[in-house]
Amino acid sequence: MQERLDYRKAHSVEEALTLFQDLPRSRYMAGGTDLLPRARGSGQAPSRLVDIKGIPELSRIEELPSGDLRIGAAVSVAAVAAHPTVRQRFSALSLCASALGSYPLRNRATVVGNICNASPCADTAAALLCLDATVLCVGPAGPRRIPIHEFFVGPGQTSLASGELALAVEIPAASAGGRAELGRLSRRQGVDIATVAVLLSVLPQRSPRHRVALLSVAPTPRRASEAETLLDQRGPSAANAAAEAAMAAARPIDDVRGTAAYRREMVGVLLTRAVRALGAA
Ligand SMILES: Cc1cc2nc3c(=O)[nH]c(=O)nc-3n(C[C@H](O)[C@H](O)[C@H](O)COP(=O)(O)OP(=O)(O)OC[C@H]3O[C@@H](n4cnc5c(N)ncnc54)[C@H](O)[C@@H]3O)c2cc1C
Repeated sequence: MQERLDYRKAHSVEEALTLFQDLPRSRYMAGGTDLLPRARGSGQAPSRLVDIKGIPELSRIEELPSGDLRIGAAVSVAAVAAHPTVRQRFSALSLCASALGSYPLRNRATVVGNICNASPCADTAAALLCLDATVLCVGPAGPRRIPIHEFFVGPGQTSLASGELALAVEIPAASAGGRAELGRLSRRQGVDIATVAVLLSVLPQRSPRHRVALLSVAPTPRRASEAETLLDQRGPSAANAAAEAAMAAARPIDDVRGTAAYRREMVGVLLTRAVRALGAA
């Protein structure tokens, strides 16, 4: 017989932490768009879902006095994609958030849930890696900040400790004002995860200025740093060399969506197209 699933809606961060600790095999739930289908199919159903979507302090997008942008863990992907500040100052994130799933899904799913799920194809991870985001979290041991490049550990694995709740992602003001181009291939437009994706972002105030993120071609979303250096040094004339470097950085696998060879080849094609489209300087 199937075990009962205990659903609890938390109204504060403290309540969420307590509810999680109270019962073994508890899971935090934001939109539930990953968690619920997975729990049904896996035979590893959680004993308790701690719903964080109703926590007011996690439901805001805030511009801090420093100019940094903070996106709470209960904010939907759709709200992030459409937010005027995100669109104007951090267009890479708006681009990636708009590419995630379908509109109904984006209305329910959250950006923080997208990265906590730690899928190699997590669309918003590409932007957050390029923008040098930080994950704010709190757990039994207290609060801490995790740089996004240390957040993804493996497929479905993050550096969050057991019981740790991600509160928000923060994007530094110094990452504002860039341009971005996303190349994304999927079996069906608008509803399917990426078979392979490449985000190229040019950030005038950052070093390296060129940022290249790869999705669905490694155990985690990742940057291709050698390609970035080549583009910084030689601009658009380095497109072919950068494409080669990005292909070398990819560690794809064969699966139902595509072969490893196809994915690696497409990394090069998508990056070359992105350099051309941005006229990357
Ligand atoms: C039909 C379909 C299409 C999809 N298409 C895409 C796509 O194109 N691109 C893409 O990237 N994804 C896609 N997804 C996957 C999913 O919708 C996204 O990853 C989404 O952003 C997950 O967010 P969520 O808020 O629903 O997370 P949830 O399902 O609530 O949680 C996901 C995981 O993160 C954990 N978690 C959530 N919030 C927190 C928190 N604050 N602190 C700690 N842990 C937390 C949960 O315990 C769970 O393990 C798709 C899913 C479906 C069903």
